[in-house]
Amino acid sequence: MAEDSIETERLDALHQLNLLDTQPSESFDRITRMASQIFNLPISAISLTDHDRQWFKSRIGVEHLSIPRSKAPCAQVAETADIVLLPDLLADPYYRDSVLASQGVRFYAGAPLVTREGYGLGALCVLGMQPRQVTEAETSALRDLADMVMAQIELQHAFGRIEPVSGLPNRIQFLEDLADLGRDNPGRNQLAVLVDLARMEQLNSSSRVMGSGFVDDMVKDAARTIRAALPSNRSAYHVAPTQFAFLAEAEEDLASYVPKLRDFLASLAAKSTRRFVTTPSIGITPFTAGETPPRDVLRTALNAAHDARRSDDLVGVYSSSSDAAHRRRFTLLNDFGSALEADDQLHVLYQPRVELSTGACRGAEALLRWRHPTLGDVSPAEFIPIIEQTSMARGTTAWVMEAVLAQLAEWRGAGLNLQVSVNVSAANLAESDFAAAIQLRLMKYRLPADALELEVTESTMMVDEAAALEQLRTLDTAGIRLAIDDFGTGYSSLAYLDQLPAHVVKIDQSFVKNVISSERELTLVRTMINLSHAFGYRVVAEGIETQAVASAMRDIGCDEAQGYFYARPLHPEKFMQWLIDRDPKTADKAAA
Ligand code: C2E
Ligand code: MG
Ligand code: MG
Repeated sequence: MAEDSIETERLDALHQLNLLDTQPSESFDRITRMASQIFNLPISAISLTDHDRQWFKSRIGVEHLSIPRSKAPCAQVAETADIVLLPDLLADPYYRDSVLASQGVRFYAGAPLVTREGYGLGALCVLGMQPRQVTEAETSALRDLADMVMAQIELQHAFGRIEPVSGLPNRIQFLEDLADLGRDNPGRNQLAVLVDLARMEQLNSSSRVMGSGFVDDMVKDAARTIRAALPSNRSAYHVAPTQFAFLAEAEEDLASYVPKLRDFLASLAAKSTRRFVTTPSIGITPFTAGETPPRDVLRTALNAAHDARRSDDLVGVYSSSSDAAHRRRFTLLNDFGSALEADDQLHVLYQPRVELSTGACRGAEALLRWRHPTLGDVSPAEFIPIIEQTSMARGTTAWVMEAVLAQLAEWRGAGLNLQVSVNVSAANLAESDFAAAIQLRLMKYRLPADALELEVTESTMMVDEAAALEQLRTLDTAGIRLAIDDFGTGYSSLAYLDQLPAHVVKIDQSFVKNVISSERELTLVRTMINLSHAFGYRVVAEGIETQAVASAMRDIGCDEAQGYFYARPLHPEKFMQWLIDRDPKTADKAAA
């Protein structure tokens, strides 16, 4: 039984090296050539002992890639991890009837290939067709050569496991060590830590200013600090260009460990801000050795570090709910590209906008909808913020614009003088040809500029103010109307309102809701309206859900309203029907 388990471990050690069935290589062949020369024998091999075969990593004078393990002297070398000398196979009671002996082999000498942990992987062996004696010098040469083979094996194994910048073992090694831990201590609960040195934007802008060598210096500094903070028997791993990982002591518990890491982070930050402006963050994830897949340990620790960065604390503990949210974000991000290309996932709904004094509908807001093939309907409030941070923002607005203008052209062609507003992302205002592209599209559909209104939020314009303003001015000059969306939720300043080439202010629904329940809120909204009017804006109230709110908004001078009280966002045909129901004259126009 014990022998069985030792053999299992031995085989594990061999398989982990990923050496079996690999290509021959000169660095090994060189050694077998030397062995054959030293012994002046025609046959030499580096032979690894697998389940039931001897596989040759290098071979001279041997035709086959492997031979059966049974009664192979190399297997004895591997099992005993000791040298085996057989001066004459025919004189040996055990090997006399082996495959080798039947092929005419008389002499065998094999030195063990032993790992640091003491596992025998196989043998470096020489064989002869005549009985032969071995001198002590030959034996020790064979041992030396076997050690050289082992050094070569270890070297190859270590290659690609050390990060050159930090000199620390890398991600692959971290994952392997976690797998080992699972084998050696299954069921043990432990904490893994991930240190993330800087936000991507920080890195990008710093290396633009200071050159990429600066990142290397920062990484080296951090590697030193992290290594110094860990006891010598614990490894730190360099798992991504600016990320490090390590495991807490086995007996460490979360409650007492978090404050320690906070102190550590403070020291790390203090060291690195001497030269750079970066904000390191730390993620901790509890895991169970042998149960939590190693990749999940790394992933959840990284997610915790990212979450930490978003909080003030900078030390974050993984939680499964935030992990699920991360996965969903990732799925949405991944799948949106194909949604843009598919013809059945995205569509635009239209929510009517109503003039409060007359009740007339002047137009609608275009709102994007996504039916994900497996997740079903996903709200734009969820997917827009995710894709807005990517280059897909450009394609998305282009897609919506195309759909909306085609629809508008159809409506206008039917004699309906509607105006549609389209929501625009920050990234769009950074496109240098954004305004020009919209003008081209309007021309393509023979639509006047004032058929289109663009909605931008205050934060959208803050991103790259100068570039955004330039695009907005061009759009304004072209006669395209602009609305400030979600007004009141951003950093609205009076001076700012004055500067913008906008025509409409849309008061966010969070203010509108409360005008009938709170006198203060009513005063606030009235002030917003008066202020906007003073600057020449038209005011739209968002999120009107009841008659009472609609009346209150009309009474304090709001110009237009949008909300479930009038209609939810509607499919184009439903929107048309809604218009007809409200004003039968629309039907005549549409029919014409
Ligand atoms: P938004 O531009 O402020 O749009 C108004 C949101 O309020 C819409 O949510 C609309 O359905 C909702 N709404 C309208 N009336 C009521 C009401 O009476 N009560 C309540 N509770 N809600 C009401 P929706 O369609 O889910 O869109 C959410 C946000 O997603 C939009 O906010 C906008 O920022 C963004 N979005 C939607 N479509 C697009 C798009 O095509 N491009 C971009 N960049 N963003 C879009
Ligand atoms: Mg909007
Ligand atoms: Mg809004």
